[in-house]
Amino acid sequence: MKLKIFAAALMLTAAVASAACAADIDYQEFQEDPLETAIRKLASPEGGAWDREVMLSGGAPDIVQEVIWPLREGYLGRGIKRKGRRHDGVDMSAPRGTPIYAVLDGIVEVVSNNGPGFRGYGRVIVINHGGRLWSLYSHNSANYVKVGQRVKQGDKIAAVGRTGRATGNHLHFELRNAKGTPLDPMKYLPKEGRLPRR
Ligand SMILES: [Zn+2]
Repeated sequence: MKLKIFAAALMLTAAVASAACAADIDYQEFQEDPLETAIRKLASPEGGAWDREVMLSGGAPDIVQEVIWPLREGYLGRGIKRKGRRHDGVDMSAPRGTPIYAVLDGIVEVVSNNGPGFRGYGRVIVINHGGRLWSLYSHNSANYVKVGQRVKQGDKIAAVGRTGRATGNHLHFELRNAKGTPLDPMKYLPKEGRLPRR
């Protein structure tokens, strides 16, 4: 019990600390960076509270358990594949203009429109969740948020499209840990609201 309270206090401290740091970040410099470099730069080695067990076993921060689905309608497509062509996220097909929601509270750190580091992603948004987890939403037809903006879980941040390297309207969604390593979203997206396969 005591340990739990201590952990909660630590997490709170970390959240406040990372929020304070976020205000000092020059977001503009990240907009042109290759995605993974940007994510690594944004990750502070000692920032954030990690569940040590989970971190050692797979590198997923505990907050990943609280994500919600970024779409409320659509169909599940391609997931992360260990073999064959590299694919770092999950594809969800939906009509152009379908709202995309932030999966957790966070700060928008990248809003790019096919920038050099994001070639192929088209209109893309990256959100930092407490310096421990990053979510990425791409091929958007429109982005509704600005760099540095705070968002709440469930906020409408963008609309589905097919910008960048995309053959049809869909959301390419990624979750990455503080090392920039892609996590398999299907492991963490909840049962509730699960999109069907076509
Ligand atoms: Zn994809």
